[in-house]
Amino acid sequence: MTAPSSGTGPFVAGERVLLVDDKDRRYLVRLRAGADFQTHAGVIDHDAVIGLDEGSMITARRKESAGRRLLAVRPTLSDLVVKMPRGAQVIYPKDLAAILLAADLYPGARVLEAGVGSGALSMATLRAGCCIVGYEIREDFAARARANVTDLLGEHVPYRVEIRDVYDGIDEQGLDRILLDLPEPWRVVPHAATALRPGGIFLSYLPTINQTAELRAALAAHPFALAETTEVLVRSWHVTRQSVRPDHRMVAHTGFLTTARRAAAPFDSDRGQQDDAEDEVAPTTVVE
Ligand code: SAH
Repeated sequence: MTAPSSGTGPFVAGERVLLVDDKDRRYLVRLRAGADFQTHAGVIDHDAVIGLDEGSMITARRKESAGRRLLAVRPTLSDLVVKMPRGAQVIYPKDLAAILLAADLYPGARVLEAGVGSGALSMATLRAGCCIVGYEIREDFAARARANVTDLLGEHVPYRVEIRDVYDGIDEQGLDRILLDLPEPWRVVPHAATALRPGGIFLSYLPTINQTAELRAALAAHPFALAETTEVLVRSWHVTRQSVRPDHRMVAHTGFLTTARRAAAPFDSDRGQQDDAEDEVAPTTVVE
């Protein structure tokens, strides 16, 4: 399996390069011998990039003035997720990063993902080494997700997408993880309760807290334990010699992450549901 930014050595024709100008404008370009493309900084000949080492500076051509210089690097998964063609809205890198550990994705894990949308979460999950069965109701989104995954990781990845409605049920049994990014995940909870292995992790990404409350009620009514809801706030910083401060703008809201562990029946379903339950994190005692 190949991965973005894992290529080494000089750039070759056929691979993608990320070019960044001095204003931090970014261009994601597939290199082709003899081709060129226009940037705000001037024209770049692909042949000027092919054969260069990653991390090199390239001078753009300009008629009237000296062209500006751009940095050439291989794109990371985050670069690709924000630039890739999409049908459905993708999950952004800050949330993908959190999902990797919140759902404890590991090599060889059997994952059910629904819906797959544009395949951004699929890409992060496959790169963590998981095997995915995807349920997606829209044929066009499934095709887009497959194309994005193939483009990133090649044909030979454990990724099968079925055109079907996950609210109708899940055929797979003994799943290690279920990852959901769709509007009514509470309708999946009864199916997840039988499709996940005991101890398996359920994770849902939701844009509103109303939906999240509905999901939490469904989880509380089924054999799920350790339910948690979080959101990820990332604040980037402006750093120059003269001024070091947070950037003026940040992404204020994307979505809420809710996770829970599949419990073995019978389970005390009212655990943690009392309104006066402590919300501080209780200490974990380690016994070796
Ligand atoms: N996580 C994806 C984006 C998912 S967008 C990414 O990172 O790219 C939500 C997707 O869920 C859409 O493609 C939509 O068609 C699909 N969907 C909605 N309801 C569904 C259902 N009941 N079963 C399967 N897929 C569903």
